Amino acid sequence: MIDYQKILFEIQEEIKPFMSQGKVADYIPALGGVDPDQFAMSITLFDGTTYHIGCSDTKFSIQSISKVFTFSKSLNIYSKELYNRVGKEPSGNPFNSLVQLEYEKGKPRNPFINAGAIVITDTLLSHYKTTDDTFTKVLDFIKEVADNKEITYDEEVCLSEYRHGFRNLALANLMKSFGNLDNEVEDVVKTYFKHCSITMSTKELSRAMLFLANHGTDPISKRQFSTVNQAKRVNAMMLTCGHYDASGEFAFHVGLPGKSGVGGGIVAVVPKLMSIAVFSPRLNVWGNSLAGTQALELFTQKSGLSIF
Ligand code: GLU
Repeated sequence: MIDYQKILFEIQEEIKPFMSQGKVADYIPALGGVDPDQFAMSITLFDGTTYHIGCSDTKFSIQSISKVFTFSKSLNIYSKELYNRVGKEPSGNPFNSLVQLEYEKGKPRNPFINAGAIVITDTLLSHYKTTDDTFTKVLDFIKEVADNKEITYDEEVCLSEYRHGFRNLALANLMKSFGNLDNEVEDVVKTYFKHCSITMSTKELSRAMLFLANHGTDPISKRQFSTVNQAKRVNAMMLTCGHYDASGEFAFHVGLPGKSGVGGGIVAVVPKLMSIAVFSPRLNVWGNSLAGTQALELFTQKSGLSIF
């Protein structure tokens, strides 16, 4: 039997040289003030057993990890139709790039780059009609998969991103000009920023991802949140597009479906076994947690777990 707690202790020691490398995401000023030296890692197994190391109760901005939940939710509603609006190929470009979007006539490569996630938010807004209801439904979905009613968002981070979100507004405006945004740009982008500013701890995130490790059904509550096929798509998207233009690097070194956020969090899934969340705010050049990526690589090396 694998001693997960021992592995986590070893990882905490071995990532120390990486903890000072990288840079906190200060393009969202409210995130720039986060203590950069934090580290946490959590594992939740199918029977509910958990293992933690570091500040695993500290809540942080989940940022793009929220895209896993919005994509899952939109797939529930629109199924295959969704791919008329957003693709399913890696972009090979930075998360907030405008260039490819212009060439490809306003259809984003995948739901995890910013443009793709903005389109997904637009689809949810069309379905739920108001910005408040859309955000509430997204948050409710996260509360349900996390089995935790306390989850909320950070208004300061949300406002900070809105005040400095020129690039995301540009992406949304470009898509609107190509006819790929049905609602008002301001409404879509504000809702997008709001779900990015949801705060969760690694303990909560590792619990929330469990349904995706089990073909869409939470192995603890037995509730089905996605169909088997939808869960397969979300996992495939995490593997191929979950780390922007470093998705290949992540698959190569870690070998698990995963999704990062510029708040310093990363979630990953070991199918049929567990989900993992890690947090460390300093990012590598691709906008993914530097020590977090390293910790996940160490975890799959030490445990021998990977999808390959
Ligand atoms: N809210 C962030 C943005 O739109 C998300 C980016 C990320 O976490 O990778 O820039």
